Amino acid sequence: MCDTSLGGPRIRGRSASSGPFAWVTGARGSKGWLACLLGGVLGWGSMASPAMAAAVSPRRPPVTTARDADADEEDEVDGGTDPSALPVTAGDRPTRAPTHADCGHRMPLYEHTVESGEHLGIIAGRYGVRTVELVALNAQLSDPNLIRPGDKIRVCPEIFPRLVQRIEHEVKPGETLGAIAQTYGLTLEALLEGQDGAISNPNHVRAGQRLVVWVDGGLVPDFLPPEPSAKSASSKKKAGGASRPRVSVALSSSEHLHVKRPSAAYGTSKTIGLLEGAVAKYQRSHPGAPKVVVGDISRKGGGHFRPHLSHQTGRDIDLGYVLRGAQAGGTRFRGVTEDNLDVARTWALLEALLDTRQVVYVFVDYRIQQRLYEHAKAQGVSQRELDRLFQYPHGRGRAHGIIRHWPSHRHHFHVRFRN
Ligand SMILES: [Zn+2]
Repeated sequence: MCDTSLGGPRIRGRSASSGPFAWVTGARGSKGWLACLLGGVLGWGSMASPAMAAAVSPRRPPVTTARDADADEEDEVDGGTDPSALPVTAGDRPTRAPTHADCGHRMPLYEHTVESGEHLGIIAGRYGVRTVELVALNAQLSDPNLIRPGDKIRVCPEIFPRLVQRIEHEVKPGETLGAIAQTYGLTLEALLEGQDGAISNPNHVRAGQRLVVWVDGGLVPDFLPPEPSAKSASSKKKAGGASRPRVSVALSSSEHLHVKRPSAAYGTSKTIGLLEGAVAKYQRSHPGAPKVVVGDISRKGGGHFRPHLSHQTGRDIDLGYVLRGAQAGGTRFRGVTEDNLDVARTWALLEALLDTRQVVYVFVDYRIQQRLYEHAKAQGVSQRELDRLFQYPHGRGRAHGIIRHWPSHRHHFHVRFRN
């Protein structure tokens, strides 16, 4: 049953990049999982939890925490409990393969194989880069707007590439396709696409029937950490571990922004400069907008910052959604509801950040993504740009877009800048 061909899963009528996968890295190798590594690659796929890792059969990831139940309660901390499930990005640590000159010696070069339905924007979003960067890196393309399945696209991935794994799911008595899709963080449509036409009526699956599900297969080997034996002092230095920018600049409250915890608001000079510039630009274009509420960045000097999973290198910033009504102008993070989100201003703030061209990814709750997506679309943002920017509407577990879901981002969003 293993398909070992390179180039990713074959999915009827849909690109493999947008093809299904789940968040369940941790369950890899568990009993009952048929693992076949494929050449297809995810921008990042896994959002596992220890609960998932321990499960013999997959369960729904704990997207909603008890904290989330009270939408109004402040939530300071990024959710998720498995650091290995976070997207790995350039500058996080050294890589097994050497960094490449064409990538400014920042990361190894990667060759992405185009799947059907993909355009450069989709590929750019997957790897946290910009479309123009792909165009510049792929002079072999006679027309960047016309790429074909099988074409090789050179990428300097800010978000490191991952493999796709094919597993089989045996339908249990009483299980519906909708429930199975939810288990894997897929839309029903995406789950059906993975079946290659084997299911004619989505309302009738029978117990014992086997479904094909594409899940995360871990990082592409070149992007794994160096083998322990290769971890000499020189290789560390060469790979950039020693040249990490200092986390030494404190962000201060100003007329434009409110810093919640000054002792936790240290970043690299680049990060702080980009944030201040983006916030000032946003405030200029939206006079009268409430101060931007800034949560944690990093501790002075960086390093582990519990209970956060990231926020270690001075380039992650938690920011409050822009609120309206009674909660506008507050200095706390508040859970976003139907009524209190200022969609237009939140989108404007996000755009100002994205315009720095230095954003690798943004964590935004999937449901909030929908509202921003629809607003951006109504504002005239092109479909190609929407495809590059948003994971929505492809499912919260999918390797799509710069703006992606991560648990506990209903109270704030999280921006990761390039190093
Ligand atoms: Zn965060």
